[in-house]
Amino acid sequence: MPVKPAPKKEEPAKKEEAKPAAAAEASAAAPKAQKAEKKREKKHKEEKGVHAMYKTEGDKVSRTRPTCERCGPGYFTADHHDRYTCGHCGFTRYKQK
Ligand SMILES: [Zn+2]
Repeated sequence: MPVKPAPKKEEPAKKEEAKPAAAAEASAAAPKAQKAEKKREKKHKEEKGVHAMYKTEGDKVSRTRPTCERCGPGYFTADHHDRYTCGHCGFTRYKQK
């Protein structure tokens, strides 16, 4: 029986080497762009500042949160899930269910 020469393994090996390199380049560039977009979306939080305490509907201005009963108008209470608290004096009023 004639001995067959061993099959050449050089060509497939070269192909394998070339593929991962190209894939790594492509995957390295893509996730970076996605991460930046995700961070921007997460940053969009609840608006802060005095302007967030008021809402305007036409000519009328309404307050989004009750003011502190002890400190009077101008001192808004923080809106928690079960209570309103004043950051100035610590007054707490629980929400009625
Ligand atoms: Zn207060």
